[in-house]
Order: sequence, then structure tokens, then C-alpha cells
Amino acid sequence: MAANLLDGKVIAQKIKDEVSREIGILKEKGITPSLTAVQVGENASSQVYINAQKKNCETLGINYNLQVLPATTTEKELISFIEKLNNEKNVNGIILQMPLPQGVNARNVQSKISPKKDVEGMNPANMGMLVYGNLKVGPCTALAVIEILKSTGSLKGKEAVIVGHSEIVGKPVSLLLLQWPLDSATTTVCHIATKDLPFHVKRAEVLVVAAGKPGLVKGDWIKEGAIVVDVGINRLPDGKIVGDVEFEGASARASWITPVPGGVGPVTTAILLKNTVEATKWQME
Ligand code: NAD
Repeated sequence: MAANLLDGKVIAQKIKDEVSREIGILKEKGITPSLTAVQVGENASSQVYINAQKKNCETLGINYNLQVLPATTTEKELISFIEKLNNEKNVNGIILQMPLPQGVNARNVQSKISPKKDVEGMNPANMGMLVYGNLKVGPCTALAVIEILKSTGSLKGKEAVIVGHSEIVGKPVSLLLLQWPLDSATTTVCHIATKDLPFHVKRAEVLVVAAGKPGLVKGDWIKEGAIVVDVGINRLPDGKIVGDVEFEGASARASWITPVPGGVGPVTTAILLKNTVEATKWQME
């Protein structure tokens, strides 16, 4: 039987509707949330993201500002620019566009964004709040995975396996799964050094894959009835975009599966907007 599709656009729209409602409440109080994107140098690939961010913000009524700094900007100069934005009252969210020039340490710069304006959820203070289970804003893709899983029902006691342990996806997803309000999953994290990946994947009732390797997870590894969230985005030589999971084989066995594209991606964008509103509310406390 073919799996049900976890349509990211539908889930994203629900989040955006809620964000729009919250913006309405803020506007009644005379507050319009604003998001500032900081880009260093020109980059064609980040332009696509910037255009999408701008369009989404405009649709929901968030002020969007793009600040482009010269490609020669040093880490020190970028940090002082970020610190200036931290102190500007009419800047509610700051997003650092990737890639940054060579020699600029992205994590170091992100750690200088005020936690209350950290709409990507990558500041160590917000990462720390993940451990405490007390998040205001958090890493967008990891929160998107949780929103998608939440749409399928309770995970209480389920065997969850995550493939990938990056700071941006795998690690935060594992922490969020452990503390999912009231019903934690039993969580295993696999990575490049895992000895027998098929063994772990085959027993997963909930599978989240974020490795960046096309076709890494074979369709016949999927447990019957599993929920599969494929975070991977890989461009093949013929230009086709695929995930990390063999979609055809996996969807014949899973109960729920995300498509690539159209799964995690749109929900991640919606979470960025949600984080912007949450950050704005946090600054008002
Ligand atoms: P990363 O390169 O930082 O981390 C990859 C992880 O996969 C590592 O933990 C590594 O140990 C693990 N891994 C790699 N090969 C493996 C193997 N053979 N067996 C087991 N584990 C293996 O990547 P990332 O930033 O976490 O991104 C992962 C994928 O998700 C990429 O394709 C990226 O484009 C995609 N992504 C999508 C979104 C979205 O919004 N949809 C957002 C972020 C990342």
C-alpha cells in the first residue's frame, strides 16, 4: 500500500495562518514584526532564498530588510554590524545568509546575534534552551521536522531513528523528540561512524534522515508502517532534486512519507516566520 504523503505546503500553510493571526494581534498593539537579512557579498544561490523570504514576509505583513555588506567584510566587521542590529529597536529578527566569505566563522558570528533576535535558533543560548525543553525560538529545520511528525499523531514510546547528527538538523531533532511534550519517543541517532545503518533503520517506527546523500536509505530498509521524514536535498547531475531516501521503495512500505521537494523545505520557511513573531513577542516581555 502506498504511504500517505506528508505535504509540506499544507502543513506550512497552517503555520502561516497561525503566524498571520498573531501578527494581526501585534499590529493591533501598534507593532509590525521586522526581519533583517544580512548578506556578505553577492551570491546567486542565496538570492533564491532571499527572494522567497521577502515574498513570504510581505504576504504575512512582516517588514523585510536586506543588508548587503561588501565581499571583503571581515569577521570582526560583520560582528560589529550584527551588534549594531542587536541594539536597533525596530529590528526584531536577524538572519545571516550563507555562504559567508572564507575566513568568516559562521557559528562565531551567529553566537553574537542576540538570543531574542535569533530567528534561526542557532545561538548557543537558544540551543541550550532545547536541552531544557523551554524554547521560544529554535532551529528552523529541526522544528519543521517536529511539526511534520506532530501532524501524524502521538509518538509516545515509538522507536525513532535519526540519520545525521549535524548541529542544524540531527542533534536538535533528537533533543526535540526526547522532550516532545508529554510523549517522548525512544531515540537513536546514527551518523557517519554508525557501524550498521540498515540494522537501525529497519527497526525505526519514526525515521528522520538528514545526511545529504542521495539514496542513502534503501526502500527495503523501511519498516512496514513507518513514518519517514526525508530532510535531504540533493541535486543530481541531470538537475533533478531528490532526498536521502529511495522514495518509490520507501513509500510502498511506510505509512507516512515526505516528498522531496515539497516536504520539509516549505515547513522550514514557515518556521522562520513563526520564529520572527515569537522573537518579537519575546522582546516585548
Ligand atoms: P551535514 O553535512 O552537516 O551533516 C550530515 C550528517 O549526515 C552528519 O551527521 C553525518 O555524520 C551524516 N552522514 C553522512 N553520511 C552518512 C552515512 N553514509 N551514514 C550515516 N550518516 C551519514 O548536513 P545537514 O546540514 O544536516 O543537512 C543534511 C541534508 O539536509 C542536506 O541534504 C541538506 O541540504 C538538507 N537540509 C534541508 C533543509 C530543508 O529545509 N529541507 C534544511 C537544512 C538541511
